[in-house]
Amino acid sequence: MPKRRGHRLLTLITFFFLGQAATQDELPKINTVCTSSDPDAEVYMNFMKKHCCYDAMPTSCKLVVFDTTLQVKKAFFALVANGLRAAPLWDSKSQRFVGMLTITDFINILHRYYKSPMVQIYELEEHKIETWRDVYLQCCNRCLISITPDASLFDAIYSLLKHKIHRLPVIDPKSGNVLHILTHKRILKFLHLFGAMIPKPKFLQKTVEEVGIGTFKEIATVQETATLYDALSVFVARRVSALPVVDSKGKVLALYSRFDVINLAAQKTYNNLNMTMREAVRRRTCFVEGVIKCYGHETLETIIDRIVKAEVHRLVLVDREDVVRGIISLSDLLQAMVLTPAGIDALFS
Ligand code: ADP
Ligand code: ADP
Ligand code: AMP
Repeated sequence: MPKRRGHRLLTLITFFFLGQAATQDELPKINTVCTSSDPDAEVYMNFMKKHCCYDAMPTSCKLVVFDTTLQVKKAFFALVANGLRAAPLWDSKSQRFVGMLTITDFINILHRYYKSPMVQIYELEEHKIETWRDVYLQCCNRCLISITPDASLFDAIYSLLKHKIHRLPVIDPKSGNVLHILTHKRILKFLHLFGAMIPKPKFLQKTVEEVGIGTFKEIATVQETATLYDALSVFVARRVSALPVVDSKGKVLALYSRFDVINLAAQKTYNNLNMTMREAVRRRTCFVEGVIKCYGHETLETIIDRIVKAEVHRLVLVDREDVVRGIISLSDLLQAMVLTPAGIDALFS
């Protein structure tokens, strides 16, 4: 079983400085009345209730913290330089963590201020993180959502799904320091590694068609001939984490995720959002070969194995002609395996 408290090595790179106190978002009270009378269905729910966030943290990791007075452009370049996807934001005036900076923020800035390839995005060049937050918080009033190391993984999953976020900072209540940033990927990997010791529930042998886990209607896709700006518009309009890139018949050709947008910062090509998706896919540095897909007749066990091994956030469900029929994301799997047995519908509420 996983190690309990031991030494954790944290490489902390602080842009400006790191202070002491941090806010702890009050987790809503969870109705844990179990709707399922089948103990087999509760195996993963119980596993997540028994283990705490500390258990799922790696023994060593790198963490970058941004002071909110840092320029947004420098912050995104720092994420790229450190191979990271997100960073907690430190407000030195109030001496606390106030939020997160993620690739979604980069997408929102580009989408909001982009005019044409001929015009520099002044706001990206000049704005500080705090200036951007003033604009952003006008439409979505969000404070930092965090969790303590002693809270259960069940609570962490609930928080990620309920708030529809992909990064959950684990904050030590004593020091106020961020210890780690939990993600769906990390939690499922933890389950995959240590859950191997618990008996496999029977429902893992059911097919995707039988269990109906995933999204099968109104799948957001983007044509390969559409522009990158069109794709960003879909990301802004819909809370989806990735878009299958399709041809005119709906066949999947590639997958473009929010994460891939950071390539624009890495390659300094964010001034040309008029390029086609074909071009955007060709230009990106991607460590995943092809599209990681699945079929309706495959079992849940196969799906989980594939998604964990490929280290991706979702699989694209296709038919025999490779036409996109659905998306099975880590959020869908965690909802079905952990929250549904507790009678909680966090993803669709
Ligand atoms: P991504 O998928 O790009 O990593 P998220 O879905 O996690 O991003 O973030 C969506 C929005 O919510 C972003 O504007 C981000 O700054 C904000 N956000 C992400 N995580 C948190 C958090 N733990 N607390 C508060 N806001 C967050
Ligand atoms: P994150 O770790 O931020 O959740 P993602 O899993 O969305 O990131 O994406 C990481 C990389 O894996 C991106 O380059 C993305 O295009 C790629 N990727 C994600 N899902 C798939 C998939 N189903 N098929 C092919 N590539 C994928
Ligand atoms: P995610 O943001 O990937 O964790 O997923 C949140 C929810 O959005 C899940 O129910 C997914 O199935 C769904 N989803 C993810 N990507 C898409 C997409 N491109 N089109 C429609 N739904 C999606």
